[in-house]
Amino acid sequence: MGRYTGAVCRLCRRQGEKLFLKGTRCQTEKCGVAKRAFPPGQHGQGRRQKLSNYGTQLKEKQKVKRIYGVLERQFRKYFEVASKTKGVTGKVLLQLLERRLDNVVFRMGLGTSRAQARQIVRHNFITVNSRRVNIPSFLVAKDDLVQIKAKDKAKIKIKDNLELSKDRTVPSWLEFSAEEMKAKVLRLPEKTDIQQTIQEQLIVELYSK
Ligand code: SF4
Repeated sequence: MGRYTGAVCRLCRRQGEKLFLKGTRCQTEKCGVAKRAFPPGQHGQGRRQKLSNYGTQLKEKQKVKRIYGVLERQFRKYFEVASKTKGVTGKVLLQLLERRLDNVVFRMGLGTSRAQARQIVRHNFITVNSRRVNIPSFLVAKDDLVQIKAKDKAKIKIKDNLELSKDRTVPSWLEFSAEEMKAKVLRLPEKTDIQQTIQEQLIVELYSK
């Protein structure tokens, strides 16, 4: 699956809020939103237009896609799966995104951003239930065991990431051991496990038109 390869701070500035896509840099004064709190581009400093209902729904969808680093086609697929699954569609949609392996690695603190966590997965450093998995969109299930299996050099780098991410709390749906750099999936994630404010209902309304 593809991924966005452009400048990520532009995405936050377009969104008008911090999406925390660049790891530790997001907490510093170098943050793009802190430095230039207006949309990117030539007309970025012009007057902001008031958003229509549709515009608000679209903006929320873009925000979630940007946070999780998912492009439209895959995001649409998640929505289709969520709408066919028993339960509240918006909640199931968020659950699917949270269950992605790159997100789990990020939540464990092994990557300082989801993009970095994705790279760790792509480089074959992760096992799920003792089997190597290098697919960032792999969905973890209850009782899965996610663990680092890397050579010493890579392990040192990942340990550094862990140190840099120590202020982030690992969500309670994961039982995490920093010592062994492994996590067990205790249950499926809930909306309350997501720190960023997401109005998933707006996305459901948008796709249900
Ligand atoms: Fe967004 Fe982080 Fe860039 Fe700030 S530093 S604009 S939060 S990606």
